[in-house]
Amino acid sequence: MYTAEYINCRVCGEDKPKFLGIRGNREYAGAKDQAGGEEHMVTNVVKCANCGFVYANPIIITDQKGYDDPQDYMSSSSTDPKRLFGFTLNLIEKYKPNGKILDIGCAKGEFLLVAKNRGWDVFGLEPSPNFAKYANSQYGINIHQGTLEDAEYPDRFFDVVVLNMVLEHIDDPKSFIRHIRRILNDNGFLFIEVPNTEGLMLKAAAAYFKLRGKDWSPLISPLHYPFHSYGYNISSIRHLLMGEGFDIEKIIIRNSSLRGFRRDSGGTTKEKLCRDIISRLAGSIGKGDVLMAIARKKTND
Ligand SMILES: [Zn+2]
Repeated sequence: MYTAEYINCRVCGEDKPKFLGIRGNREYAGAKDQAGGEEHMVTNVVKCANCGFVYANPIIITDQKGYDDPQDYMSSSSTDPKRLFGFTLNLIEKYKPNGKILDIGCAKGEFLLVAKNRGWDVFGLEPSPNFAKYANSQYGINIHQGTLEDAEYPDRFFDVVVLNMVLEHIDDPKSFIRHIRRILNDNGFLFIEVPNTEGLMLKAAAAYFKLRGKDWSPLISPLHYPFHSYGYNISSIRHLLMGEGFDIEKIIIRNSSLRGFRRDSGGTTKEKLCRDIISRLAGSIGKGDVLMAIARKKTND
């Protein structure tokens, strides 16, 4: 079951939506995942004219659950955790070489395993019982199964908090970031990785849809659950973090294929080749499809 609700921008609070396209038509590429009688969610994709935040308006509120099967999750992609997360840790360690690190939405705990082997004191938080169980039994990493609210971490407990492809699923990003600020040490760091809505790949996909006469926006994917609630870019990430008491240390735009991560998103051989070329080109001109940000908690004194 789902309901729809019109909202203001959840990053800057303004109501200045610019229509980008439709999300969720049955004929949309990828919509076949929904075959079998599942309800299909059609809504508008808009971009806030003030801060660049991309959101669905109306927003879809659903009781469907998120990722829950460790075997199924990322089964369609080849991942090398050491390479994927080594880059992230190299970046974090330039600012903070060790200490207590919390991975929110840690899934199978692979990031934490790499971090643990590099000497970090690791903590995980994961809403899915199956993932949490998997991380505990496979890697011996202690994962709190539940939400940030019910974990009840003490104030200023962590040196680093990590959000790997998590923020785009969070319904109320401002209160979420505020909560993270509370549990971060003074001058602690927040690392965020999200899909970049300004990536050339998504622009090319939008142009391709338009060419075919379709009013589709590819900016908030996937079409199957867990639907991304929002899309971020440099402007909206800055608005969000600076508005909640963080200083931005660094923002990096990357190409996802450089992370040792590839997802087979289907299509014909020609379409795949096309995507590959655009993806490589995008990475080389700073228009990659992944945004990474490191921010430092500002303190009052
Ligand atoms: Zn806004």
